[in-house]
Amino acid sequence: MQSTAAARGPCARRAGGPLALDVDRQERRITTSGAGPGAAPVDIAIDRDRAVALTWPDGHLTRLPLPLLRERCPCAACARRRRTGGVVRSGVADDLRIAGAELVGAWGLGLAWSDGHATGVYGWDMLRSWCGCATCSSRP
Ligand SMILES: [Zn+2]
Ligand SMILES: [Zn+2]
Repeated sequence: MQSTAAARGPCARRAGGPLALDVDRQERRITTSGAGPGAAPVDIAIDRDRAVALTWPDGHLTRLPLPLLRERCPCAACARRRRTGGVVRSGVADDLRIAGAELVGAWGLGLAWSDGHATGVYGWDMLRSWCGCATCSSRP
């Protein structure tokens, strides 16, 4: 889309290793404009085989396991399946991995899965609301 982002590249890939998105510098203006519950994380660490860890501007860390993310995929097809009582599951549940990730505008994270599914975009507030840490779970 924009060519300005291409120089640095929001998505650094290393074969086999952890996939990390560094949003610290490039996306800082986004975090300041949206300071509050919907603010973008200052750091995203993606473990392709296990989980996505997001560090929020207030220092809070949210770690979301891949199966949880996959089952809550916000794309239209998965949302429709959930509404009709179906279960959203990967065809490769035992070998679920993240094949790619990218920042989508100012508001979310797009994940591509090892089974080829890549249409879901996870909004920041959505991701934060799924935080299962002790602090967040004890909140009403
Ligand atoms: Zn989906
Ligand atoms: Zn939390």
